[in-house]
Amino acid sequence: MAGSSFVLRGPPSYLAGKLLKSSSMSPLGVRCVQLHSVFEVALSVDSLAGSGAAALRRLYAFTAGTARCRVGPELSRKYGVEPDNAQLVVSITNKATLEQAWYNEVRTRKPQTFKVDAAGLVDPTDGGRKCDFCNWQTLTAEDTWGRIERPHAVTGSNLFKYGEPAHGLVLFKHHDPLSFSREQLGDFLAVSADWFTAAAVVHPDARNPFFIWNSGPRAGASQFHGHGQLMLTTLPVPAQARLTQQSELHAQAHPGTSIYHDMVQAHAAVGLARALGRGEDRCWILAHLAPQKDMEVVLLGSSLKSPVFVAALHASLRALVDGLGVQTFNCGILNVPLKQQQPAAGVERFPAANELPLETRLDDSQGLVMAFSEGMGTDEDVLRLLPSGMEWRPLMARVVSRGKTTSPASDFGCLEVIGHASIGHTDPFLLIQRIDDQLALLLM
Ligand SMILES: [Zn+2]
Repeated sequence: MAGSSFVLRGPPSYLAGKLLKSSSMSPLGVRCVQLHSVFEVALSVDSLAGSGAAALRRLYAFTAGTARCRVGPELSRKYGVEPDNAQLVVSITNKATLEQAWYNEVRTRKPQTFKVDAAGLVDPTDGGRKCDFCNWQTLTAEDTWGRIERPHAVTGSNLFKYGEPAHGLVLFKHHDPLSFSREQLGDFLAVSADWFTAAAVVHPDARNPFFIWNSGPRAGASQFHGHGQLMLTTLPVPAQARLTQQSELHAQAHPGTSIYHDMVQAHAAVGLARALGRGEDRCWILAHLAPQKDMEVVLLGSSLKSPVFVAALHASLRALVDGLGVQTFNCGILNVPLKQQQPAAGVERFPAANELPLETRLDDSQGLVMAFSEGMGTDEDVLRLLPSGMEWRPLMARVVSRGKTTSPASDFGCLEVIGHASIGHTDPFLLIQRIDDQLALLLM
């Protein structure tokens, strides 16, 4: 660990020729060190220079201290720990949102849980033969205005609603919740986008969309089959209300910045941001410094139908599932843009639910390019791609792992439920490496 073990590292070789721009030089022309862990970030945050570092210090507060205990001989032998035990504990707090994560490298050094045996995630439907969602035509409800359907995904109406006036369902057409291609994910998000549009036509007073994807029972899912939920309500969920409020307060407190710009800048400053783009469309991928739960990825994109956003979200989810052995996750999407449409008077069913234009093909990776940040206090290659307007309100997807499916212990304890903080099990620097692996496959 530690602040004295910095090593220079060049850009990933697979990025050659694929970069929007690349540089390992700081704005001052000095080749800078690269950070490798949240501990290095916490210990060196005051010495980082540049606009990205300023954003890092503006948005995040860091503490680093030693927590000590005395360990008896038997306990020391049993767990191989030092008798005079000292552990470096770091906390990272988002000053705007107060989100907070605590890291202890002793915990992060624990072996990662790679793909565990099938007992971890049990399919109670006999491989889909008893699955309601595989039989969605007859065993799921539909909205009063019908369904949105694409080749790989379809919407339904939630049969046991907690949201009103509109609470929908989005289903993959295939059964396995952890196996989905970019094309399948593209359809999943596209029918969701069209569901929000259709629901807003029928319920013009409901202006607050929220996209929910619980995968696996530990994440809150009640069905094995891959599915999400779609809420369109008159009230925003608290996370959306807080984000809107905090982004306004942050912009007022720091004129010329926005919470979204600062998030990208702060993560770029330490090497935890990637930008995926095609044409003018962009999506930023951040391995979150202050995760709500383990392995949080924050994505800032343009819309649910953006091929760039789909590719970025797919790479992030595959990084968790394929790269880090995650079998259960939450994916929530805030700031979903809602199209302004006039309701069609007297029409009960959405008039052309299944005739909406397919728009851009979502399975096309042609022209996708990427920029990355090396972690040098600032990184103009990523930063100059940012929209200049402080009114930028990107779609914000948040993905978290929900722990080990084999563990009967919940990953939500008092620290999370009451304290609203979390334990950072996986270092975001490991997470970004696995995301890079997926981006390499994407850009091959
Ligand atoms: Zn199924």
